Amino acid sequence: MSGKVSGNAGMEQLILIMNKLQEACASSGTAHKFDLPQIAVVGSQSAGKSSVLENFVGKDFLPRGSGIVTRRPLVLQLINFHTEYAEFGHIRGKRFTNFDEVRQEIENETDRVTGKNKGISNVPIMLRVYSPQVLNLTLVDLPGLTKVAVGDQPQDIELLIRAMILEFVSKDNCLILAVTPANSDLANSDALKIAKEVDPSGTRTIGVITKLDLMDQGTDARDVLENRLLPLRRGYIGVVNRSQKDIEGKKDIVAAMAAERKFFLSHPAYRHMAERMGTSYLQRCLNQQLTNHIRETLPALRTALQSKLLDMEGDYRMYRNFDPNDPTIKTKAMMTMINQFTEEFTQAIEGSGEVNTKELSGGAKINRIFHERFMYLLHKTESDERELRKEISYAIRNIHGIRTGLFTPDMAFETIVKQQIARMKEPTLKCVDMVVEELINVVHHCTEKMSSYPRLREATESIVTNRIREQEGKTKSQLMLLVDIQLAYMNTNHEDFIGFAKLFSGRRENERHGITFLQNGADSLPDQFGKIDWEEKKVSFSC
Ligand code: GDP
Ligand code: MG
Repeated sequence: MSGKVSGNAGMEQLILIMNKLQEACASSGTAHKFDLPQIAVVGSQSAGKSSVLENFVGKDFLPRGSGIVTRRPLVLQLINFHTEYAEFGHIRGKRFTNFDEVRQEIENETDRVTGKNKGISNVPIMLRVYSPQVLNLTLVDLPGLTKVAVGDQPQDIELLIRAMILEFVSKDNCLILAVTPANSDLANSDALKIAKEVDPSGTRTIGVITKLDLMDQGTDARDVLENRLLPLRRGYIGVVNRSQKDIEGKKDIVAAMAAERKFFLSHPAYRHMAERMGTSYLQRCLNQQLTNHIRETLPALRTALQSKLLDMEGDYRMYRNFDPNDPTIKTKAMMTMINQFTEEFTQAIEGSGEVNTKELSGGAKINRIFHERFMYLLHKTESDERELRKEISYAIRNIHGIRTGLFTPDMAFETIVKQQIARMKEPTLKCVDMVVEELINVVHHCTEKMSSYPRLREATESIVTNRIREQEGKTKSQLMLLVDIQLAYMNTNHEDFIGFAKLFSGRRENERHGITFLQNGADSLPDQFGKIDWEEKKVSFSC
């Protein structure tokens, strides 16, 4: 086994920092996944994976039995601490001091996601064990490789478990603890096969040989343990775990470890290397190897973290040397985000900042609403010319009643024009709706950068949207007021009506069949009077 085994307080802190990071990543969901250094335990079913982990903790706490017991990955963080207790990621704050309850909770939590009938899931259970017995280590217990589906397991269970294991072990930052029982052929070891697939040069694989006590009389694993049979860069460590009988008889782990030590010291094939065998050596080795591994992977991890940090929080970068939980730092970071939001919102409307080349957005879209969509809606409201003439004719005749009038009454004009003006209300309101919709889109887009603070994002969106809605109400009533003002009084002295005035003062020309009017000045009538092509027409109404 390469690597000196020694305690190094400074480096040990690294594992604790990694644990914190791991927890932060797990709680923030998939968005910020980093490949944090960890050790995954792989091997076939009943190879002794869970037994190895339990020995590290010195407690019985993992569900065990025949068949597939480990059905979800268990991320086990061991933390050296003066008191002993366990805590689950899914029930923060609840301290378990009774390890039977820990086992029960693992079982319950496994069933909760996978169902009771032996289903599997790749959603990990997070468990922290604080204890004076343990060295700082993060291990992942994985379901054993199995071939035959039982219970609710799908027929392709073998592939599913393989995929789940690969998900962990194919990451460069994962050390592979390949567990193989000594009483099976090493050349056929599932653990070593899968390790070889993802780590062909063998730089991240550590071999563990269990069940040395169960080997046939006269055979031993000396060649393997001396790293001669199937050499691994990090070598092999032999262990003797408790047998099923020991477990049922509630054999104490401390006694089991003493028996293990005695086994190695007294065995003629292993005696010479007894110091490099056994659970406690394995534990120290792993601690050292994980520490070294973290140190090696740190530069790449640091780069990945920093670029993510830049992505996520922009200006928040300048606070990275401070404690991120410090409330004043958090407040500053949030303020920065709010300022950034304001800036981006303004830019989206004004048109500077990031340029979208795929579609119109923000200010440009609003511009289109005003100049194209609104115009289109206005045109749609115009009645066609014939319709308008008919309306005018009826208006004039209805106003004259039984009499046949000499002059075209003002009232007819007013009634028609008022109708036309009133028709502007609907497209105007619609225009406001469209602008509001686009503004809300812009708000939503600009708050995306706050997604690392979901509550801040929600609050910002709701405050700004409410404000927009308030203004929407005010704008609409203001616009309706403008239209009402136009409707309330028609100023026929306005220059737009000069043609009209002329018509009444200068041209009272009776025609035999009707009154000709609007001949000269009509093209200067306000647009609201319908877009009749007055130019070439003489509009005559018979009286
Ligand atoms: P896993 O499926 O790989 O997690 O395997 P377990 O740790 O649950 O072990 C399966 C069975 O093998 C249990 O009954 C253990 O008691 C037994 N076992 C594991 N390691 C050893 C060992 O070194 N010696 C003996 N005699 N039995 C062992
Ligand atoms: Mg297991």
